[in-house]
Amino acid sequence: MKLSQSFIPTLREVPSEAEVVSHKLMLKAGYIRKLAAGIYNYLPLGLKVIQNIEKIIREEMNAVGAQELLMPMVLPAELWSESGRWQIYGKELLRLKDRHDNEFCLGPTHEEIITDVVRREVRSYRQLPVSLYQIQTKFRDETRPRFGLMRGREFIMKDCYSFDRTMEDAQKSYWTYYEAYKKIFSRCGLSYRAVEAVTGNIGGTLSHEFQVLADSGEDAIVSCSACDYAANIEKAESKEGETCARCNKGTMQGFRGIEVGQVFYLGTKYSKALKATFLDDKGSEQIIEMGCYGIGVGRTSAAAIEQNHDDKGIIWPYALAPYKIAVIGLSVDAKVMDVAQKFYQYVQKDLKIDAVLDDRDERAGVKFNDADLIGYPYQLIIGGKGLEKGEVEFKTRKTGEKQIVPLANVENFLKDTFSKLS
Ligand code: ATP
Ligand code: MG
Repeated sequence: MKLSQSFIPTLREVPSEAEVVSHKLMLKAGYIRKLAAGIYNYLPLGLKVIQNIEKIIREEMNAVGAQELLMPMVLPAELWSESGRWQIYGKELLRLKDRHDNEFCLGPTHEEIITDVVRREVRSYRQLPVSLYQIQTKFRDETRPRFGLMRGREFIMKDCYSFDRTMEDAQKSYWTYYEAYKKIFSRCGLSYRAVEAVTGNIGGTLSHEFQVLADSGEDAIVSCSACDYAANIEKAESKEGETCARCNKGTMQGFRGIEVGQVFYLGTKYSKALKATFLDDKGSEQIIEMGCYGIGVGRTSAAAIEQNHDDKGIIWPYALAPYKIAVIGLSVDAKVMDVAQKFYQYVQKDLKIDAVLDDRDERAGVKFNDADLIGYPYQLIIGGKGLEKGEVEFKTRKTGEKQIVPLANVENFLKDTFSKLS
């Protein structure tokens, strides 16, 4: 993409309501704009990051045999009454009526709906197990929407649901998704912990949260210095500073975390209420065993920034970066732009790496600042003086390291660099 034709509205001043760094930087670097409290426009750069996360999620969900579907966002009250949640879900559930006075809500999560989908089709044990997921916009009328995409009212979630014949099978599914989640967050380049968690509104008996470690995190978690026991403080058997009750050896240490995902073993909570049953191999009726698995897609992008930034801007983990490299022409002089254009084409067309060409008629300082702010992992810098010496500069955003690359070597250098990364 050519920056001269792009829509990346960067800001000089950050609106004062932005408290955490990811919110500030997403506004400042032109990734998102607020439409209403907790409701955001994803601008082109923001959407690219979301799509990069979604791609990783889809690959790992498909790899464990989950199938993607898409359920509606506007949900009829009847199904929510069947589970009892129409009555007990508080004001977070945004309720509405159609012209015939029928009651609906905007979906905050989809256990009832997916259970209905499955109960209508599944009759026999031969049709199980089955796992279904969607990536969809959710709505929760949060009391305090804040921190940008971290806690919105409208937000994108991946929600997956597993249906099994027995408790043992369902728990096996649970641990399959637990492992898939580890792969997802590792591939996103995040430093995280899987911690034992309470089940809250969703219900069930076994649950883990995936927490991205960050000082700005809203959750307090503790983890043992000796064994791998880690828990949300709401659930922890031992508090910070105490000896770990699980192994009796280590001491519990406290961390702050951002919950980016949660897995639940649900048992028959929804299947029993909605009568989702099947006939087993002896012909007797059994209740389907369920699990559910959520990931906050937008929150994951915000958590990545909380963990990866400096005073100049965002430092994207490679996999999430909207564009992997900015090819920066330091002037609009034809000699400079021809070379910049050529290397940009090489990266974009030959290497098939998402790149931007900074071909704007702007001062070098503006271009450098924007590139650092937006957070491309790499910059290829082409200036008139360098060209006279037959060289360009390659900068790594994370370390600030600059390498001089002779013009004749640039293509091979780029090829090597990117082949190591993907
Ligand atoms: P929280 O405790 O932070 O309110 P939750 O436990 O209610 O979240 P879940 O029902 O577990 O959320 O939803 C699955 C995932 O969706 C969460 O792990 C989180 O990443 C994301 N999520 C939940 N609420 C929001 C929100 N208001 N804005 C953005 N993402 C959210
Ligand atoms: Mg949760």
